[in-house]
Amino acid sequence: MGLEEISAQVKACEKCQLCKSRTNAVPGEGSPHAKIMLVGEAPGENEDLQGRPFVGRAGQLLNEMLAEIGLRRENVFITNIVKCRPPGNRDPLPEEKAICSPYLDMQIECIQPKIIVCLGRHSAEYLFTRYGIEFPGITLARGKPYKVDSLFGHFTLFPVYHPAATIYNQQLRPVLRADFQKLQKLVSNV
Ligand code: SF4
Repeated sequence: MGLEEISAQVKACEKCQLCKSRTNAVPGEGSPHAKIMLVGEAPGENEDLQGRPFVGRAGQLLNEMLAEIGLRRENVFITNIVKCRPPGNRDPLPEEKAICSPYLDMQIECIQPKIIVCLGRHSAEYLFTRYGIEFPGITLARGKPYKVDSLFGHFTLFPVYHPAATIYNQQLRPVLRADFQKLQKLVSNV
């Protein structure tokens, strides 16, 4: 299945309760040939209104961080584990992640990236578990590359703090920025 077909399925999806409260599903966007995927947790209010990922304040910050290491959104693929906004921006429930995550799995298999940046704890926990790596928590895991062998070849998981977390706790901002500098080095080798 191609990315456009996955996107169409997400937009029409009614597999979990989040379809009832969404304005738009947010399948994700970017290059189908991206070497780098960035995966967050779930859409927020702005994302739900526009049907696009990371378009609010956290998205602006993400754009800045990407630009600082010479990447543009058009050259990467950005998405979330859960494709519809949980009401009030609550954390997605385990059953919502379980029902929705096959879309992400299909997107990954379709794009076959070399690096997946896990934006925040939920994303890192899901992707580590999915690929059989013990997740030590985001504080310990962040800023380090984890090699994965998959059916389509080797790739690297690279967890960082969620950009939104650095809006609420500004002390995390330089940590995120430093992790993006490390990401730049990884990117230059793929
Ligand atoms: S969150 Fe995922 S599973 Fe639930 S309705 Fe949206 S696309 Fe479907």
